[in-house]
Amino acid sequence: MRPLIWCDIDTAALAENVRVFRRLVGPDVLLSVAVKANAYGHGLVPAARAFLAGGADWLCVHAPEEVRALRAAGVTSPIYLLGPAHLDDLAELAALEARLVVYNAETVDRLAALGVRARLHLKVETGNHRQGLELPEALALADRIRAAPGLTLEGVASHFANIEDTTDHRYARYQLGRFEEAVAALRAAGHALPIRHIANSAAALLWPDHPFDMVRLGISAYGLWPSRETRVAAALQGHAEVGLRPALTWKTRVAQVKDIPEGAAVGYGLTFVTSRPTRLAILPVGYADGYDRQLGNLAHVLIGGRRAPVRGRVCMNIIMVDVTDGPAPALEDEAVLLGAQGDERISAEAMAGWAGTINYEVVARIGAQVARVEAPRPLEAVEDALYRATGSSASTAEASSASRKPTSADG
Ligand SMILES: *Cc1c(COP(=O)(O)O)cnc(C)c1O
Repeated sequence: MRPLIWCDIDTAALAENVRVFRRLVGPDVLLSVAVKANAYGHGLVPAARAFLAGGADWLCVHAPEEVRALRAAGVTSPIYLLGPAHLDDLAELAALEARLVVYNAETVDRLAALGVRARLHLKVETGNHRQGLELPEALALADRIRAAPGLTLEGVASHFANIEDTTDHRYARYQLGRFEEAVAALRAAGHALPIRHIANSAAALLWPDHPFDMVRLGISAYGLWPSRETRVAAALQGHAEVGLRPALTWKTRVAQVKDIPEGAAVGYGLTFVTSRPTRLAILPVGYADGYDRQLGNLAHVLIGGRRAPVRGRVCMNIIMVDVTDGPAPALEDEAVLLGAQGDERISAEAMAGWAGTINYEVVARIGAQVARVEAPRPLEAVEDALYRATGSSASTAEASSASRKPTSADG
């Protein structure tokens, strides 16, 4: 059956975003990309493949099931598990060759008792107060790992608490200082720690010259800036614009077009009443799909290249939008909920503003049941790329030969 709600995923854009970061941090730094949360809503397996095609060295996931899904799909790259694992799943994760973050003695003891080989990364506390160990406990756990045959302490990690929320990076620099102290103390105790990593997207964009041994990219690999503050701070620091390309377009189709009179109420709670004869398009998407209920009477969608405001509340699986001002859409016309259509764009940032959240949550919450379709690059982008590469006029061969492969099974 043909999906009525889907996301076109521009996998060429995902690969290109990785290349942007490769140029930024240089050839010697490991580039890992976080594909947790269904690859920030972009579809785990197709996004992972696109990143690896673009030159990513490692993938990061949050959940053990994501390690299993990537291995089942034939992904052979290193996979780093950012989140916790049930102690009973450690044997399988070791067999799948997941790199594991550790911050509990119980995890290390279970792995040691199993007698498996595993490469571990110690999470040190630098001020986020999420996962991680203060230095004395980190030193003790590192010694425990060293004492277990089969276990290798491959790396040390930490995570920033206040880097994308502000243009004032004093706290992030304080965390950097604590990270460097922890690394120095662990190395003084004889732990080699070949892979030190703390940089997320914002740190990679702000401090590309200080990536340590690996960066852990997330949001920016998907073509989105971590925040407006990060963008402003990067510009103030004199960094050139990096040209990230958003890769996701969330679409649905018009299910009904209807004309209603002036003074008619729309949807649950009668929260919108028309002030003129109004033409509505009914779209089969709602909060159960990740279209936030906060968007009622606030968001726009794109139909026929024009903005159509959402009228009334968002239902579980339906929204109503106002198409009075444009030509009447036809049944099954495409509507864009997020992304571009014609000259208009609904950005993840605009939607985040309407919904009172951040672009991360907007894309990550698009339901896993929504199909992800690997879409060809827009013709203009292909032409741009060819023009830049050859200096000559573009051929459209790539665009016309690109196929549309449904990948909903990966969702
Ligand atoms: C998700 C995540 C990242 C990526 O963060 P972005 O801000 O999306 O770049 C990096 N490190 C850890 C530990 C994460 O959980």
